[in-house]
Amino acid sequence: MLYRLSTAGSVELGGRYLGPDLSPHGLTWVPRPLGDGVHALLATTPPKNNHGIIAGDQAALVIDAGISPRVSRIVQELAASVTGSPLRYLVNTSHRGDHTFGNAALPAGVHVLASAPARTAMRSLAEEKAQWFPDMPGDDAALGEVTRWRLPDATFGSRLEIDLGGVTVELWHFGPGSSPGDAVVCVPGARTAWTGDFLNHAGLPPIRLDGCPLAYAASLRRMRELLPDLETVVPAHGPAGHAQSSISWLITYLQDLYGNVKALWDYGASAREAVAVCMLNCSWSAPPSLSAAAVAYDFQQPGAGHSYLAGLAARLHRSAIVATYRLLEQRERAGDLSRNTGWLVRGRACTRRSVITHCWAIRAQRRW
Ligand SMILES: [Zn+2]
Repeated sequence: MLYRLSTAGSVELGGRYLGPDLSPHGLTWVPRPLGDGVHALLATTPPKNNHGIIAGDQAALVIDAGISPRVSRIVQELAASVTGSPLRYLVNTSHRGDHTFGNAALPAGVHVLASAPARTAMRSLAEEKAQWFPDMPGDDAALGEVTRWRLPDATFGSRLEIDLGGVTVELWHFGPGSSPGDAVVCVPGARTAWTGDFLNHAGLPPIRLDGCPLAYAASLRRMRELLPDLETVVPAHGPAGHAQSSISWLITYLQDLYGNVKALWDYGASAREAVAVCMLNCSWSAPPSLSAAAVAYDFQQPGAGHSYLAGLAARLHRSAIVATYRLLEQRERAGDLSRNTGWLVRGRACTRRSVITHCWAIRAQRRW
């Protein structure tokens, strides 16, 4: 069961919601070497899309094709500039257009790989393009050149290993996450993984949320168990971060998100009320490492730095609250979930008004 914050959802929230600006306009990258033949391409204008290049003696692999054929061609040129090995593989870490629309510009000889659920989610180019217009402020024409959605040539289940010639790459799918088919591209030799939309730097909520926060948290726990030696994560959006602390932060965030929204939904709060309360009262806050990452980041836009990332985090949080609220509504309509109206605050039964007033107290009971 999926929910996406669409244009209609933004209007419902008073039209004030602004999606993250993912327009390819002005998108450039700083290649950062992370090991032999391993480069991160970090967008100078976050949260626009990051990429990665991993090269062995015999072949190179690029992470994500970008939001348009033009972006894809630039990334391919950057790959050719940092390695002499031929580009043989491209991994889509999500089905979403900002990771897959550029597939169409890849030479036929490049094998496009994705998880099986990601491939299944690539159904309608028109519908996927429509999802992106709210994230293209002032640049509605950006997707005009996207006329064909090249699908992955091959898919994998939970794990696939690729030998590039002296460099091993592992592709993982840990379960539903930000999207149904999130993939993680791990280079064990560099203790680094590209995490797509699945895992951002600690302090940054998911770029979008297309499923249940609790299932997502379970997938993150699987990642923690299966990649215990991982040190660095390079997300598709925003700065690179420390792997284990980013995983732990997001698990806690998702559990709190679900718990808070569920408590408000139980008592009949509207989506707007849920947003208002959760924006004020949710316990998450940006860890100091995010401030440090903001300082170290080579931003090339006005208003950059810590305040920029903090503002981005708030917008992503708002989007996640609404997505979670809609998920609960959908489950109720499907008969999978009923409202729990038996909550007590400090020993007293709640009214709808008091649950909003005393959201902190309810959360403190940890009854969810
Ligand atoms: Zn993305």
